[in-house]
Amino acid sequence: MGIANKIKNSLIYIFGMIYNSRNSKCIFYHDIHSDSCFTNMSTSSDLFEKHISIIRKSGFEIVSEITKEKGQISISFDDGFKGFYENIEVINRLKIPITIFVVSSYLGEENFITKAQLKELHNNPLITIQSHTHTHPDLTLLSSEKLEEELRKSKQILDEICGVEINSICFPKGLFSKKVVEIATKIGYISQYSTLPGNYYNEVFPTVKRRSLVQFSSEKEFCSILKGGDHFLNYWYTKKHFSR
Ligand SMILES: [Zn+2]
Repeated sequence: MGIANKIKNSLIYIFGMIYNSRNSKCIFYHDIHSDSCFTNMSTSSDLFEKHISIIRKSGFEIVSEITKEKGQISISFDDGFKGFYENIEVINRLKIPITIFVVSSYLGEENFITKAQLKELHNNPLITIQSHTHTHPDLTLLSSEKLEEELRKSKQILDEICGVEINSICFPKGLFSKKVVEIATKIGYISQYSTLPGNYYNEVFPTVKRRSLVQFSSEKEFCSILKGGDHFLNYWYTKKHFSR
């Protein structure tokens, strides 16, 4: 681990102790693996199960949608990797509601779930499918027309496969701007998920929620993140991810 990461982890730990927050928040991952790994962003099923046990032991409830200011955690997975489908037994056994943000053009590509698997996941009462754009571009660099196309196409494809209306999106690489928010809202994405850490009810814009990436968090770091230890990173993440 590099020195910068060591300092970051120590600060997350210290701020976790200081805040010791019970506020509801969203956390996210990219994939789960037991044997085969489909992305270097994947979390081992062992670590994932440890995280779930920490959430429950800390007295948080895992919910599909946060409705209370305190005590709730929502979990999402980005991109639609295959490992999630292959390890669905873990999700079913632990009975955890999960949202998957799917990149619609990746469906059926190597390492990603197919349309049929997506449909199967959608039929699982624990799983909610939402959008992660059509081709995973940096949305802040697109013209208004291209941006609309990216967001509409993904919604249309997923609406059709799932037979329900898709109304949430998460931004590729967490990158967004005011224009992205305006167009996403116009198209019908009621909730938009960033990767800026923070409490659920401390929105960036009224439609834009915060999420913490926890895919490689050790047990100690994960405990601190649940208590809000990573919120101090918001300043840097905002600089990196949000353009006016
Ligand atoms: Zn992504």
